[in-house]
Amino acid sequence: AASNILKGFNPPYSATVIKKLEEAGAVLVAKANMDSFGHGASTENSDFGPTKNPHDVTRVPGGSSGGSAAAVVLGMTPFSIGTDTGGSIRQPASFTGSVGLKPTYGLVSRFGVVAMASSTDVIGPITTSIEDSALVLEVISGKDQRDPTTIDRDNVNYTDLDSDIKGRTFGVIKEYMDEGVDPKVISKIEAAVKAIENAGGIIKQVSLPQIKYALAVYYIIMPAEVSSNLSRYDGVRFGYSSPDGTDLDAAYDFTRSQGFNDEVKRRILIGAYVTSSGYADEYYKKAQTVRTKIINDFEAGFKDVDALIGPTAPTTAFAFGENTGDPLKMYLSDIMTVAANLAGIPAICIPAGKVDGLPVGLQVMARQKQDRELLGLAQGIETALGGEQ
Ligand code: GLN
Repeated sequence: AASNILKGFNPPYSATVIKKLEEAGAVLVAKANMDSFGHGASTENSDFGPTKNPHDVTRVPGGSSGGSAAAVVLGMTPFSIGTDTGGSIRQPASFTGSVGLKPTYGLVSRFGVVAMASSTDVIGPITTSIEDSALVLEVISGKDQRDPTTIDRDNVNYTDLDSDIKGRTFGVIKEYMDEGVDPKVISKIEAAVKAIENAGGIIKQVSLPQIKYALAVYYIIMPAEVSSNLSRYDGVRFGYSSPDGTDLDAAYDFTRSQGFNDEVKRRILIGAYVTSSGYADEYYKKAQTVRTKIINDFEAGFKDVDALIGPTAPTTAFAFGENTGDPLKMYLSDIMTVAANLAGIPAICIPAGKVDGLPVGLQVMARQKQDRELLGLAQGIETALGGEQ
């Protein structure tokens, strides 16, 4: 998890995902860099230093799975694995020009994976093509006795894709093509929409009025779950243990204050605050209510379309240091990825060309458990875009 608190930790068992990949013949070559515990959008919160963007080394690769994305784009490995709690597979895919898939919540076992926010965490692949993405999903998905939150894959074959987009309907999310999004990103997405239309896709405009609350809701629910999940790092059973504590409470305090970085601490504090008595109704419970409204919005939005589309991130890769001084600015990078996590729906980022030498990612979302359909439509779009630069 690129964290000092787990520095040198040697896991005594393997995650189900790793086991499944190894059984299928894959060779695990390395662990990639990331923002510590998945908290970030640039890898600048890694306790081991940042990863650089292969397209421009003065810029970030996105995050939190920035190392995974950079490794694939550099051809170091044909695919990598990331987790996506609020965009950590799709946003680095967007910044590096790779394909990043966040499957339906529960489709991939999380046994053996460091938990961030348990109600949105999903594991998925970063690849250079939809075909590779489907190949990896085929191997890693399915019910796991060791993760009771997994769902059945219903005998779906993810590699048998229907990629004909003729006559299929795509809803452009109105709220994602609005102010706050870099006009150059918008024009690239508009060009991609045109290409989908030219390939026979039917384009509609869809409004999701509650989606504007998704970022605020995410930054209440996610820290609440983070503060609970990270309470296990107490220096007693595993990981870093501070030598400075003279009694048990002091040992916890020293271990956690020395072992966690500032961003991790910020989220633990926010999470403890929004769930504390006196504030839980105002923040945590209200956020859960609005989360349901966002889910209902998606349900209505999918009524007349096969998929919803829009940008993955509001900007292209930003420069190192550009957002580190202001956490809110950093959080804004997640504004278009978090809604899919809150709703548990599958979403994918596909390269849609470049502006000023930097990649732009098109995001495609589908209904829950429509991962095969999503990959098919994404492959049709991939062909329609034709490796467009
Ligand atoms: N950038 C988001 C965050 O900082 C997403 C992180 C993730 O998906 N792990 O929370």
